[in-house]
Amino acid sequence: MGLTSVIASKKNIELIYIASSYNKQDVGIKCASDPTIDNTLRFANTRIVHDQYNLTRQEKLDKIVQYAEKSRQYPFLRVCWKEKGGKNCCHCEKCYRTIFGIIAAGGDPNQFGFTYTPRLNQKIRYELLYKLTLTDGQKPFWKDIQKRIRQNLSETESNSQYQWITKVNFDDINSNWRKIRKKIGKCKRLLLGRK
Ligand SMILES: [Zn+2]
Repeated sequence: MGLTSVIASKKNIELIYIASSYNKQDVGIKCASDPTIDNTLRFANTRIVHDQYNLTRQEKLDKIVQYAEKSRQYPFLRVCWKEKGGKNCCHCEKCYRTIFGIIAAGGDPNQFGFTYTPRLNQKIRYELLYKLTLTDGQKPFWKDIQKRIRQNLSETESNSQYQWITKVNFDDINSNWRKIRKKIGKCKRLLLGRK
């Protein structure tokens, strides 16, 4: 938001929309991206609106996919934190989450700026189950995706490659022994001063 203040001042923009991160149902998640903060910010003659707080991340993806299918225009969804060139790396948690969110909405991730193959589906499954540690802020997104895939499974069932996600216990996702072993290894390295 700080970056937009410079452009807003230069171009005399009076209203800036900041896309919401969570929604009002996500109680107890601590995040600086919140309407109680964004909506009260002002700089010069510019005000901020924390936009679409009434929708979950999945509901937003549903709308984007619906609009794209209807208009036959597919926006490039740049969501990645890791890829520096302006694209999506397709190998980080946020890319994985968005890929599955698009699938859950009935869309094809390849049309929205991702490279998705059945092989990547297997990689995502493996990494979610055995490698990635999900934060308390990330779990609600995955549970929402899982819920939507369960709802839509009859339509997508012909592609049973998505069935595995319906069986994941996201509340307990970090308790896998391989992840615990990895954490212990990391702690040991820290204690011993090794990287
Ligand atoms: Zn990424």
